[in-house]
Amino acid sequence: MKLTLKKQQEICIGCQLCCTQLGFYIPNETVVIDFYNVRGCNVYQRSDGETIASIPMECQHLYEGGCAIYSSRPQVCRDYNGILEFGDQCGLYGHDLGDR
Ligand code: SF4
Ligand code: SF4
Repeated sequence: MKLTLKKQQEICIGCQLCCTQLGFYIPNETVVIDFYNVRGCNVYQRSDGETIASIPMECQHLYEGGCAIYSSRPQVCRDYNGILEFGDQCGLYGHDLGDR
């Protein structure tokens, strides 16, 4: 069943992963993974096999209650969802989002 926008917002407020972390693809090679771990990155493998490293980078507009500029947030924040970057670590993963 398609998630309501309200439910999506609740999940995102409880998660905040993509507003606090910057994720990027890295090669699935042990030496690369070890190197990023040594550099303090969080490295994990998504369920589709892609390897992602992430570092903290909190958006200046985020506060504990969510996005402080939610009604006027950038269009890219409306179009984006964390599944594209964080896969199954995104709280929306596995849900039917419909046309967001
Ligand atoms: S990672 Fe997913 S659930 Fe978490 S804040 Fe981003 S879009 Fe929302
Ligand atoms: S503007 Fe809002 S939705 Fe966009 S990254 Fe910042 S806190 Fe997240």
